[in-house]
Amino acid sequence: MADGDCLFCRIAAGEIPANVVYSDDEVMAFRDIAPRAPIHVLVIPRRHFVSLMDLGDEDTPLLGRMFAVIREVARRDGIAESGFRVVSNAGRDGGQTVDHLHFHVFGRRFMTWPPG
Ligand code: AMP
Repeated sequence: MADGDCLFCRIAAGEIPANVVYSDDEVMAFRDIAPRAPIHVLVIPRRHFVSLMDLGDEDTPLLGRMFAVIREVARRDGIAESGFRVVSNAGRDGGQTVDHLHFHVFGRRFMTWPPG
C-alpha cells in the first residue's frame, strides 16, 4: 500500500491531525479517536508495516523501541504502577481495522479477561 492511502502513514506525516503524546524519528504515539478505556493510546512505527506479520528479524530493534515508547507512554499517563494492557490486532480474525502496525495501550480501568 502506498503511504498516501494509509491513515496512520498520513498521521505520521502530519497530514491528518492527531493528539500526539510521543514522537521521534521512528515511532509515534497518539490518542485513539474512539477510546475504549480512560487511557487509550496507539503506538505506531512511522514506517509502513501492515501488521506484526510484516516485520522481519531485522526489525527487532524497531520493535524494542516501540516497547520503550509504550513504557514511556505508561509513565507519562500515570498508569505504569496501576497497570495497563497492550494489544496488537492482526488480520481479520484479530479484528484489525487499520492496516498499519500499531499497539493499543489501554489503562486507568480494570481490564477483563478473556478479551472479546
Ligand atoms: P484496530 O481496529 O486494532 O486496527 O485499531 C485501529 C484503531 O484506530 C481503532 O481503535 C480506531 O478507533 C483508531 N483510529 C481510527 N482512526 C483514527 C484517527 N484518525 N486517529 C486516532 N485513532 C484512530
